[in-house]
Amino acid sequence: MSKDRYAQIIIDISHERLDRPFEYRIPEELKDTLTEGMEVLIPFGKANKERHGYVVGITDEPSYDRDKLKEINGIAKSAVSIENRMLALAVWMKKKYGGTLVNAMRTVLPVKDKVKPKVYRSVVRNVSTETLSEEAGKLNPVRYAARIRLMKAVSEAEEIPVDIVTGKLNVSKAVITTAVKQGLISIRENAEYRNPVAGKNAAYERRAELNDEQSAAVDAILNEAEGERKAILIEGITGSGKTEVYIEAIAKTVEKGRQAIVLIPEIALTFQTLMRFYARFKDRVSVLHSKLSEGERYDQFLRAKNGELDVIIGPRSALFIPFKDPGMIVIDEEHELSYKSQNMPKYHAREVAEELCRMCGAQLVMGSATPSMEASYRAECGRYIKIKLNKRYGEARLPEVTVADMREELKNGNRSFFSRALSEKITERLLKGEQTMLFINRRGKAGFVSCRSCGHVMKCPHCDVSLTEHGSGQLVCHYCGYTMNKPPLCPECGSKYLAGFRAGTEKIEEEIQKAYPGARVLRMDGDTTKTKEGHEKILQAFAAGEADILVGTQMIVKGHDFPNVTLVGAIAADMSLNGADYHATERTFSLLAQAAGRAGRGDKPGEVVIQTYNPDHYSIQAAAAQDYEAFYEREKAFRELSDYPPYTHMMALQYYSADSESAFDKAGKAAAAIREELKESVEVLGPFKAVIAKIRDIYRVVVYIRSKDEENLSRAKDLAEKLQDENRESGKKEVTLQTDLDPVNSL
Ligand code: ADP
Ligand code: ZN
Ligand code: ZN
Repeated sequence: MSKDRYAQIIIDISHERLDRPFEYRIPEELKDTLTEGMEVLIPFGKANKERHGYVVGITDEPSYDRDKLKEINGIAKSAVSIENRMLALAVWMKKKYGGTLVNAMRTVLPVKDKVKPKVYRSVVRNVSTETLSEEAGKLNPVRYAARIRLMKAVSEAEEIPVDIVTGKLNVSKAVITTAVKQGLISIRENAEYRNPVAGKNAAYERRAELNDEQSAAVDAILNEAEGERKAILIEGITGSGKTEVYIEAIAKTVEKGRQAIVLIPEIALTFQTLMRFYARFKDRVSVLHSKLSEGERYDQFLRAKNGELDVIIGPRSALFIPFKDPGMIVIDEEHELSYKSQNMPKYHAREVAEELCRMCGAQLVMGSATPSMEASYRAECGRYIKIKLNKRYGEARLPEVTVADMREELKNGNRSFFSRALSEKITERLLKGEQTMLFINRRGKAGFVSCRSCGHVMKCPHCDVSLTEHGSGQLVCHYCGYTMNKPPLCPECGSKYLAGFRAGTEKIEEEIQKAYPGARVLRMDGDTTKTKEGHEKILQAFAAGEADILVGTQMIVKGHDFPNVTLVGAIAADMSLNGADYHATERTFSLLAQAAGRAGRGDKPGEVVIQTYNPDHYSIQAAAAQDYEAFYEREKAFRELSDYPPYTHMMALQYYSADSESAFDKAGKAAAAIREELKESVEVLGPFKAVIAKIRDIYRVVVYIRSKDEENLSRAKDLAEKLQDENRESGKKEVTLQTDLDPVNSL
């Protein structure tokens, strides 16, 4: 008889906390067949009632008294349930990305909360749309922007949930109350969540007549869904109607009795887009967003499971909605970095979606104006099918782009932040009453404070980063929030030449105010948008025409549709070109190309000014020409030459510890073991201090492993995790390990 083996088992995954596995003995006849993720039958409790459980781990050494352990009854032979599918997905994720199975399960299974029966409130229109627009016409558009927004929304849809009004529309409770008192609207209480169902208004009732390009795309998707089900990548310029294509393809999926998941980065999901989905799918569509409580989230999961929903829209975690028979997964803005999880398991939504589609026989559709290198490369290799949408819908034209060479400006004596081209165009806009958006693509990068006498840089005592000076004279750490007053003298040499060098959003705002004293300026960056509300509020105010110029970080260029914006200026377009990782160029291109797509979406033509010190760089040139192919070809050559993904795969082993030496020690041992075991099949780089070597007093050390074959990386990861387990009780300071496959942020 072979040695006894034991299994960690979680009971009834949908109902109980996942952090308490129970231990059971594995009977002789199951020793060879039982694996992680299997559903088993076990005796439970005093009465040994038989219950279902899931194996989350197998060991040789029990952690409890082995005589007291019960034995597993057998493997459950239930039909494939939704839980089983999710569990299989968790097992797959654990294997691919590393970490524990319990962690992976927490990611794929919704946590059940004690939920009080909840009343859902919605705003309902009480009067005719004519009366509403009459009332709105009487109001001062600047002072009462929120009230006007509310009136416009209820003219378009008769009933809207209060959370959408206060959330996406950013209308305060007080404004709602006022409108109720005026008798324009009333509040309805429902026992369940209701979606804004389009009223009689044609704007949202209309069904788009697809143009030739769009219908060809829909046909291709449906064809593939009936056939081989290769993933489809739509490369379509902004405004080409990708969303219309998704909606049509989803409608066909729903007609067949199957469900669809739509991933959209939350920041890019506008109220208008939301309403287009609601108009088509009525109360069979729902949205997951960060403002939902755990309980409300769970409610949506229950509705999906009970078959009350056909379509869910949400961020990457919407992948785990328990639909009975998902038939289509859409990933919009496929290139967005937010599709990669930054918590263990550090999964990428694109890959999990692929696996889920494989498991369910569903069709994957991805779309972007600037697809990621990974996705385009897969299309080139024939793993995905690429479809192009080349025309903007209707009359909307592509903007005219000017590249301003800031080196030339300086030579000609212009020392300001703004090129002559940009200054002239801003003036024109102010005269015509049109709007301008100005953005820099990083926050506070140049905001550090240093001593001009000795060169000392003011740094956060807990993190390996410089502090950033804010208008208030305070120095702030953007990683941990540590704040101090700016000292009058240099703490190092005592000189009084301690000064900030600022070229952040605040500085730009200041300069704009100086150059155009009459202009109304709004600023949007990490400081003005600490809360989600702040963010929506600024965008809504800008959309309502409350400012002439919006200054911000890259967050202002994502997915917003302002018809009156006819000028977009990128202030320091190449700032991110100097970033530390190989994605820097791709990010610069995609940001600039997306920004250019923002100008002139209405009937007015748009203009874009890109200010740069690298006017000849291919990412700048290609963005200016809105030429994705040109960028892709150049970047591909660079990636191939320097052995970066998508030509190879990378695995980052990230070691965290309060003690720097312990972290280095652990990382070094892992690197050595991997070199020895995997030899030439992988390239091991490191250990290195991370780019930011310390955050919140935790040191960060990283080892990179590179290989063309993902299997080798998986082996390296398993080896590193095994070493972690073995050395756990060595008495040293604790070191934790996170594994990151094809990281999008270098540590
Ligand atoms: P994308 O998602 O590619 O940026 P959208 O689907 O948002 O493009 O389309 C841009 C605008 O054009 C939207 O206002 C949309 O309603 C409109 N539009 C696109 N295609 C059609 C169509 N076939 N019929 C009517 N309107 C359309
Ligand atoms: Zn000094
Ligand atoms: Zn800090």
